[in-house]
Amino acid sequence: MNDDLPGSHGTDAPRGAGHDAWPVVIIGAGPAGATAALLLARAGIPVLLLERARLPRGKVCGGCLNGRALAMLASLGIDDFPHAPLHRLDLRCDGASAGMPLARSLAVDRAVFDAVLVRHGRAAGVVVRDGCSATVIRRSRPGAVVRCVSDEGTASLVHAGCVIIATGLPRGGAPGTSGTSGSEARARPRDQPGPRSIRRGLFGAGTRLPPGSIELPPGVLRLVFDRRGYVGFAGLADGEIDVGAALEPAAARAAGGPGPLAAAIVQAARRSGDARADDMLTDARWSGTPRLAHRNPAPAAPSCFVIGDAACYSQPITGEGIGWAMASAHSVAAIAADAARYGWTPAHGRRWTGMQRRAARSMWTASLLGTLFRSPCAGRALLAVTAAVPGVARAVLDHVGRGPRDAPGAPCPVRSA
Ligand SMILES: Cc1cc2nc3c(=O)[nH]c(=O)nc-3n(C[C@H](O)[C@H](O)[C@H](O)COP(=O)(O)OP(=O)(O)OC[C@H]3O[C@@H](n4cnc5c(N)ncnc54)[C@H](O)[C@@H]3O)c2cc1C
Repeated sequence: MNDDLPGSHGTDAPRGAGHDAWPVVIIGAGPAGATAALLLARAGIPVLLLERARLPRGKVCGGCLNGRALAMLASLGIDDFPHAPLHRLDLRCDGASAGMPLARSLAVDRAVFDAVLVRHGRAAGVVVRDGCSATVIRRSRPGAVVRCVSDEGTASLVHAGCVIIATGLPRGGAPGTSGTSGSEARARPRDQPGPRSIRRGLFGAGTRLPPGSIELPPGVLRLVFDRRGYVGFAGLADGEIDVGAALEPAAARAAGGPGPLAAAIVQAARRSGDARADDMLTDARWSGTPRLAHRNPAPAAPSCFVIGDAACYSQPITGEGIGWAMASAHSVAAIAADAARYGWTPAHGRRWTGMQRRAARSMWTASLLGTLFRSPCAGRALLAVTAAVPGVARAVLDHVGRGPRDAPGAPCPVRSA
């Protein structure tokens, strides 16, 4: 058994546990899992969706949807979620700033947005069990066995024709964070051993600020960065300000936590102006994520497919993560539907592994941009280019957001049986 696969564990089934059987079991009800569930259910395939947190659950995220995510949502016919339009990107670093228009971007509250995806899945026939931590305990051909433990501690077994693992970033610990919420708060490393390939890198942190607490014009996505990480601000539909940050663990420890570090990054980028954010950020209650950059070496194993952040992660700049998660769901749905109908074969695994490798390669641009922005010289140079020729910066962001060619935004690839 390959314990590098997220959501997998090498333990035996508990004695006396009940069991049921499904053509497809999906673990994780984030954008990747919920989208895959919806597509498969609409294609007439019975799907069980297992989620560790109680829904709705929060998620550390900037909450920005880019054109790719919006194209996916349009193809799914989903537009009934509260959102705030974003029309301008405001970049700040080391006393300099540059702005550029943002095309087709929205800010969403992740708890609400993810719940809407799950609601559409339920309407299409997806059976959802939340408050249920799932682990693949046996993979074979054909089928897999999933062990579920409810948050009351009841264990049960589910037999699956194939399993889609959409469990998000593997756990690794976010130094200096406290008061985590949602999925991040409850995950335990023992439940979900992370891939050995987790690299040293930034960790994610997020909080909310009350409406009007900082100077942020409506429709502006602000990214403030320096070598210690970056902090993003976006106004939500209810007026609250979503703050998502990617921070260096050592710098966070030295500063006394993600709040003081985020405040220090904002302070360093500002030569003058509104200082209200500093205290707000320092005092806010922050949630954290595991380390952000990783590549999973095993996007597929017998009867299992790994999608979304669980398969591949790249630092998002302006909303690439959700778009990629939904696109990977879109791509896997066709392969999983085939595996569910005709039985999993190694060819299904090879197809998915190849697609994931191409997706991972396409993510290097976003990672490179994230790294460049954090270098003081390169960051200032990028700001100067953005200010002088915003069209070039727009073209780069469009390229980053588009992703690999075989994970398009539309239309649904799964045919009904
Ligand atoms: C600071 C920060 C800012 C970001 N900003 C943006 C942004 O503005 N725009 C953007 O597009 N992306 C952004 N991202 C990235 C984005 O949040 C992710 O790419 C996206 O959530 C991935 O979706 P997913 O479905 O793969 O995973 P997740 O959304 O993480 O969902 C995984 C789900 O699986 C569940 N789960 C985990 N283990 C188990 C288990 N064993 N059993 C059952 N359930 C389980 C979890 O509870 C969770 O609900 C940001 C990320 C960070 C860290």
